[in-house]
Amino acid sequence: DRSVCAPLPVLGRDVSVPLVTGGEVTYAALDYAASAPALQRVWDDVAAYAPYYGSVHRGAGYLSQLSTDLFENARVTVAEFLDCREDDQVVFTRSTTDSLNLLAAALPAECQVFVFETEHHASLLPWQDARVTYLDAPRGPGEAVAILERALAGRDPRGPALVCVTGASNVTGELWPVRELAAAAHAHDARIVLDAAQLAPHRPVSVRDLDVDWVAFSGHKLYAPFGSGVLAGRSDWLREAEPYLAGGGASRKVARRADGGVDVEWHESAARHEAGSPNVIGAYSIAAACKALTEEGFDRIVYRERHLIRTVREGLAEVPAVRVLSLFGDDAPRVGVISFVVEGWNSSHFAAALSAEYGIGVRDGLFCAHPLLRTLLGSDPQTQGECGAPEAAPGEKSLNAIRVSFGAGTPDEHVERFVRAVK
Ligand code: PMP
Repeated sequence: DRSVCAPLPVLGRDVSVPLVTGGEVTYAALDYAASAPALQRVWDDVAAYAPYYGSVHRGAGYLSQLSTDLFENARVTVAEFLDCREDDQVVFTRSTTDSLNLLAAALPAECQVFVFETEHHASLLPWQDARVTYLDAPRGPGEAVAILERALAGRDPRGPALVCVTGASNVTGELWPVRELAAAAHAHDARIVLDAAQLAPHRPVSVRDLDVDWVAFSGHKLYAPFGSGVLAGRSDWLREAEPYLAGGGASRKVARRADGGVDVEWHESAARHEAGSPNVIGAYSIAAACKALTEEGFDRIVYRERHLIRTVREGLAEVPAVRVLSLFGDDAPRVGVISFVVEGWNSSHFAAALSAEYGIGVRDGLFCAHPLLRTLLGSDPQTQGECGAPEAAPGEKSLNAIRVSFGAGTPDEHVERFVRAVK
């Protein structure tokens, strides 16, 4: 059915880029996992609101009131999108990285944290100040649950504990068994936060169904422009924590004390962690994306994505020099994120050639997941500067990889051109 299969209109789909061989070609954005282009309808929605935007929470003027309503309604829309529980909180942040750092700053005393070494650095690193246990890379979803079960069984049962897990890998695209990991966490009185940066753009995320305590995601990967993100979930740890940032908006009452100091009463709501003037357009655009994706329907998005994944995987399988990276094996369910190496090629040069000769934008490097890349490549990954890597000597293993990723706005022609170019 062509209508089901049609890509959703996104910004930048008509942009032409010059080729080193002469001429121009329409840019094939195949780096959705880094940042997805905004959906046209999200952009239109934001553009319609833009003339009216004003400061939130403090202004008496009409536009301030309007913006405050839209900002607060954006929370409701996000809560609905994530199928949150009644008493969950939605905090607007800058990004997934910011959301997970906020939660890390809100951990109760003596909290133990369990995290797989395969995580993106955003979910791997924020817990350094806690008692963190890094779990070995599992080779399948069942093994992931078994490894977590074993670690939790050996934990000190007196203190609080948190498990942090990514729903879909930003390297392999593989889906993690979130529901099962949440059940294991809860069976051991631990809580769980889901890094949904890569999952939310590709699959519906239900806090209730998955039974996770928190979810973090970024707007710019969910077809929303502007630097905003979300941390949604249980309010207790957030309410009891010191504010993430101290300042206006987070404080309800501030007064000088007789001893010369200052007493502060902090808000208990999400505002406690949103000090300063919030990114109203960012929050509004996330809500617009949530609405757009819900209305378009994930069935359609998943259906189309399967077709694109098949095209890429079958195409790559025809090139003997290509090795697709996978932790869970070929049959594992996955989203449209595929990493690979090409024997005899430096991945950075390969990605540069895709861009210069074919107008295709992919990513090369280690994808902010160095321990995972070490496991997948079987070599010590190395970077040179921002993203390059030294040439692997003939016969040696690759030192970094190439990632192609796509989604709801990707036309067939982009992945077909990619396959042709690799061949
Ligand atoms: N987690 C995962 C799985 C990601 O892929 C990314 C972004 N690559 C992040 C977290 C961090 O997202 P952001 O850069 O928007 O904070």
